[in-house]
Amino acid sequence: LFLGSRYESTATASDSGNPPPPPAEKYEYQAEVSRLMDLIVNSLYSNKDVFLRELISNASDALDKLRYLSVTDSQLLKEAVDLDIRIQTDKDNGIITITDSGIGMTRQELVDCLGTIAQSGTAKFLKAVKESKDAGTDNNLIGQFGVGFYSAFLVSDKVVVSTKSPKSDKQYVWEGEANASSYTIREETNPENLIPRGTRLTLYLKRDDKGFAHPERIQKLVKNYSQFVSFPIYTWQEKG
Ligand code: ADP
Ligand code: MG
Repeated sequence: LFLGSRYESTATASDSGNPPPPPAEKYEYQAEVSRLMDLIVNSLYSNKDVFLRELISNASDALDKLRYLSVTDSQLLKEAVDLDIRIQTDKDNGIITITDSGIGMTRQELVDCLGTIAQSGTAKFLKAVKESKDAGTDNNLIGQFGVGFYSAFLVSDKVVVSTKSPKSDKQYVWEGEANASSYTIREETNPENLIPRGTRLTLYLKRDDKGFAHPERIQKLVKNYSQFVSFPIYTWQEKG
């Protein structure tokens, strides 16, 4: 298993008088992930709506995992937060945040899950892309296979994942940009961003996709997908 390579710190010492935050570390994506990201970022695929389906399904999976594991380990629920999904839109700045109170990820899980292709759906997608090119056809492969987490880059220039696993006493932040070959991981140090458990994704929408941060648009999409999700999904907008 490829676990990404570490580089020297990209953080600079703060001059605020506070101790500097632990440095962010930079990791290269596994080659297949880079290929997948290129395909997603440069595709002319028009049904970008699917990003929300993928991210809601990940949030739902994370809540399912927590609920399942808590049957044998009740300590997992010691942070007594509701099991739900919250989607907040900021249409003025073109930002969507999706927060779940699920199982979260440790630092190592961030590297394993969001830097490599461990899952079979995405591997099948890449194989199908290759075969369709060989055969000279161009199908709706992104919609057909689903490209999981990376579908966030259908609509985002930058994606920030802040996550807290019950297995770790620290919360970590994964940050990736479209058209970049590397991502960073650092410890969450902003007290405003701390969550008791789970994962918060922040999507900084591309200029042409900022319309997704309109609450009516998100609510309509959520309504379509929520019927398949057994946890409550709340949506609201930032006060303007
Ligand atoms: P899949 O859901 O098919 O496994 P994804 O690309 O959608 O593939 O996600 C990759 C992995 O990243 C997931 O299997 C999971 O381990 C992790 N992950 C993604 N989103 C979350 C989340 N909200 N909470 C916890 N883990 C997550
Ligand atoms: Mg998924």
